[in-house]
Amino acid sequence: MSARILIVEDEPAIRDLLAVNLRHAGYVPMSVESAEDAQKQLDAALPDLIVLDWMLPGQSGIDYAKRLRADPRTREVPILMLTARAQEGDKLQGFDVGADDYVTKPFSPRELLARIRALLRRAAPEVAEDPVEVAGLRLEPGTFRVFADGAPLSLSPTEFKLLHYFMKHVDRVLSRAKLLDNVWGDHVYIEERTVDVHIRRLRVALQPTGHDRLIETVRGGGYRFLPR
Ligand code: CA
Repeated sequence: MSARILIVEDEPAIRDLLAVNLRHAGYVPMSVESAEDAQKQLDAALPDLIVLDWMLPGQSGIDYAKRLRADPRTREVPILMLTARAQEGDKLQGFDVGADDYVTKPFSPRELLARIRALLRRAAPEVAEDPVEVAGLRLEPGTFRVFADGAPLSLSPTEFKLLHYFMKHVDRVLSRAKLLDNVWGDHVYIEERTVDVHIRRLRVALQPTGHDRLIETVRGGGYRFLPR
């Protein structure tokens, strides 16, 4: 799946340059002009990375980065800051508020793309992740295989990601919105009901070994993966 990249930049020429280059490199860019518009996008769905200009009308990029880092929902989305200022002090301030990397204008699109690739690699190490084992279930992210009491299970990619997320967040109440953000992430137009559909399928797949009981429905809260 192509990574979705949110561009927050008020200068149309730079915004377009970025969008064209990102699209050309196989990403899905979305452009907005202000932090306020960025927030509207984020409320609908999380991007895989945010390219954030420092100097924006209204809320500044720095203040917005701070806000993104303070919100548990957006805390882990990588941020690449753009700025016209080259002073070291400003750079440090950028890292201070939680930017993951930094590019000074004027930048070469090639360099920017290289930085973006590196950030995305760092943010999504899923494939290289270690196998997880919980209560007789073993999930191997590298090979996309799951075993229940030693027997292989056949899961769709979505159910696989869902189970992986559950196994990494044992005993936590996970809302449908949180699951959508973390498991579906890339899609904008998905209803919370969709989560229930996939939970149902996952439970069916886990039923033969009784592991379906590990997925608990929390009334009004979402779901919890509870080894017992
Ligand atoms: Ca600007």
